Amino acid sequence: MDYTALAALLFPDVTDTPADVEARYPARDLPEGAVVTRIGPSPTGFVHLGNLYNAVIGERLAHQSGGIIFLRIEDTDDKRRVEGAVETLINAMSYFGVRFDEGATADGDNGAYGPYRQSERKAIYHVFAKQLVEMGKAYPCFLTAEEIDAIREQQTANKENPGIYGKYAEKSRSLTIDQIRSNMEAGLPWVLRYRGDSTGQYICVDDAIRGKLEMPENDMDFVLLKSDGIPTYHFAHAVDDHLMRTTHVIRGEEWISSLPMHVELFRIFGWQQPVYCHTATLMKLDEGNKRKLSKRKDPELALAYYQQEGICREAVWEFLLTILNSNYEEWRLANPEAPYTEFPYALDKMSHSGALVDLDKMRDIAKNVISRMTAQQVYDGWRAWCGEYDPEFAALIDKYPERTLAALNVGRGGAKPRRDLETWKQACDFMRFWYDETFTVTDEMGVDDETRKAFFRKYLASYDHGGTSDDWFAGVKAITEELGFAVKPKDYKKNPEQYKGSIVHTTNMLRIALTGRANAPDIWEISHVLGEEITRERLSRWI
Ligand code: GLU
Repeated sequence: MDYTALAALLFPDVTDTPADVEARYPARDLPEGAVVTRIGPSPTGFVHLGNLYNAVIGERLAHQSGGIIFLRIEDTDDKRRVEGAVETLINAMSYFGVRFDEGATADGDNGAYGPYRQSERKAIYHVFAKQLVEMGKAYPCFLTAEEIDAIREQQTANKENPGIYGKYAEKSRSLTIDQIRSNMEAGLPWVLRYRGDSTGQYICVDDAIRGKLEMPENDMDFVLLKSDGIPTYHFAHAVDDHLMRTTHVIRGEEWISSLPMHVELFRIFGWQQPVYCHTATLMKLDEGNKRKLSKRKDPELALAYYQQEGICREAVWEFLLTILNSNYEEWRLANPEAPYTEFPYALDKMSHSGALVDLDKMRDIAKNVISRMTAQQVYDGWRAWCGEYDPEFAALIDKYPERTLAALNVGRGGAKPRRDLETWKQACDFMRFWYDETFTVTDEMGVDDETRKAFFRKYLASYDHGGTSDDWFAGVKAITEELGFAVKPKDYKKNPEQYKGSIVHTTNMLRIALTGRANAPDIWEISHVLGEEITRERLSRWI
């Protein structure tokens, strides 16, 4: 067979040579050891937590080595294309603070190694597809869907591996150039297949996360180009990651089984194989059993879930780093204030047996993250979230900006800051009491009417808004005692029959009157943020 003639027949429009294309993608000018990586999500409309998970690894590896991370849109699957999905993806990545150095952006491409959308790279793939045909390593295959089904049935019956290889590839491999030409003239659809000639060897790939992976060499005549000329993942991966000079391919473990095809492509082209990093599947504990997160059952698989719940981006990152590197938590304890960028992220500390997504843990991390923020940072993050998800609350914040900031400052700073705020959504509930518009009483005072009225009467009569907090507390103690409550809770515990209760009960009355609930920050500070008028008004309701 004259492969040059076959290549010309199959790709009449390709005029560029591989060398022409290579010249447009020179080696990158980066420091020694710099990692170049990417995420290559498919825009299906559904953005996965896994997309962010891989992006976090890539971002850390790239930026900690002086390298770069780029965003490549893998939109070769027409059937799965969804309107607006690319924008959704780009927005989600930017919302969660992934800093791409180049790649697809909302306003087109940014960078010299594009186009960064595979749908715009068809001409490039065809140059290399043509080269494979010229080398005798690829051929057109006209098998129909029915023929392929029949082959699969036969393979199942014979307990053989599925796919087109060996004797199953014979029919297509043995077509003459004249037969190919006449098939094409008759308009028969064809795909381009790789000619897999395994010698029965094993390949060994040193996965940066999993260590040595040994697998049989590729023996499949796998598809390179589909009948519409669009490449398969396998072919696009090899061509793109070579040209874009990716040093590390970070992707889900579901790709491990296709590694022999990828290794084969890099070998046949004589390209430097990237370092493969196959990440663990995201799992959850379901009634004590670990199982894969499912798109259908688990809302937390969608990145949008964290956005809607208002789990701040720092907490999501922090959580991902915790499940990604086994020593992250230890480092965080030792360095509570340090930015996560100072953590020395290492691939060999990654688990490969399934990463557990534990929402309780994430929320707990979120509490710590918010408790370490300044009031202004909390204000900004929360306000931005409300702007999108709770416009009524956003309006309230805008109506009382100073009070809001002062309220967020209560219990903040110091060695043990309060951990009341968990998510931006929960903050809207927790912060209700700071505004008359949303204030409601939810907890019970647990004190009889008589005593309660007497307490508030005395309290208001002696309340000195301008006094010191020590004087104020002395006053509370005096009223507590006068009304027959124990000033020391342990006295009440010892002799409950001698008292009506303890100072815990009297201060609770104040807390509930001011905030509507028993769990609230410091009463004195709250009164001062609310101001004397609101304080007196809320307390007098109980008389
Ligand atoms: N488009 C592939 C996916 O979404 C990308 C895998 C890769 O990063 O190579 O799984």
